[in-house]
Amino acid sequence: MRVAFLGLGIMGRPMAANLAKAGHELAVWNRSAGKEVPGATPAPSPAEAARGAEVVWMCVSDTKAVESVVFGPKGVAETIGEGAIVVDSSTISPRATRDFAARLKERGVQYVDAPMTGSKVAAEGGTLIFIAGGEESVLENLQPLFAAMGKQVFRMGETGKGQAAKLAMNLQIAIIYEGIAESLTLAAKLGVNAETLLPVIQASMVRSGVVDYKAPFILRRDFSPNFPLRLMHKDIGLMLEAAKEARVKLPALETVEEVYEVAAEDGMQDLDYAATLTLLEKWAGVEVKAATA
Ligand code: NAP
Repeated sequence: MRVAFLGLGIMGRPMAANLAKAGHELAVWNRSAGKEVPGATPAPSPAEAARGAEVVWMCVSDTKAVESVVFGPKGVAETIGEGAIVVDSSTISPRATRDFAARLKERGVQYVDAPMTGSKVAAEGGTLIFIAGGEESVLENLQPLFAAMGKQVFRMGETGKGQAAKLAMNLQIAIIYEGIAESLTLAAKLGVNAETLLPVIQASMVRSGVVDYKAPFILRRDFSPNFPLRLMHKDIGLMLEAAKEARVKLPALETVEEVYEVAAEDGMQDLDYAATLTLLEKWAGVEVKAATA
């Protein structure tokens, strides 16, 4: 298929590389220069990338970025042809998603929200899980592209529901990780090291995929960004905004948001969100360690 891929960050670049590897005709664009994808043609603007494309796939930071890439100057909307499909794999506001879809529909363009779960490793390995919103027949047409980048696609309903489901899932990750971090910090303070406690956690009903994924990084003290703290913080903001609109109270998430605010003020925004652990350690005056000294 003729595809334009916009946004070559931690996730976008390996996703685009997998599309090129699968033999799709690919134009790529990134806001800052210097990011290339083997087998793809770089474009000078979203509008040029989208010219003649059957599908325009985006993976940028946030709602504002999607709006400017699609509707801003030299944006996708200037050149995209009738019958094309715009797919957004960024995590953004469900309400804004419905608005963007309605604006593009007036030009005969279909819109699919397809945020994904799975981090950098899954993007590189082509094993992402997409959580999609949009018409079934449109998703069907996108199947070869989903297959090149991921292992599963779940349809949540009409446009906007993919984003809603993604926020609901990241809510759990944020709260579960905070639970793990608080648990390891308390254990360390009480003299039980993480390497001793983690196998008990994973053998019991407390076990979680978040521990499976994050424990090796915690034990290595590797807080380099797989999912940057600034992006989880952005997602928490989106969850609280959606909750406010829907008149839902999320007291645990409100508290976790305060931790992220302090972490950002402490300059951790470009580290992985797992680095929120170090804030708890600082407050407790202890460090979570791999093994007993
Ligand atoms: P990232 O590495 O920070 O990349 C962000 C991308 O967005 C970059 O290409 C950046 O361009 C572009 N961008 C930012 N603001 C822009 C603007 N105003 N106009 C145009 N382009 C703009 O982020 P990422 O980890 O790839 O994440 C991308 C999206 O996927 C986010 O919505 C994130 O929440 C979601 N996501 C991430 C993960 C993960 O584990 N990392 C997992 C699932 C979902 P520059 O290069 O010029 O800065």
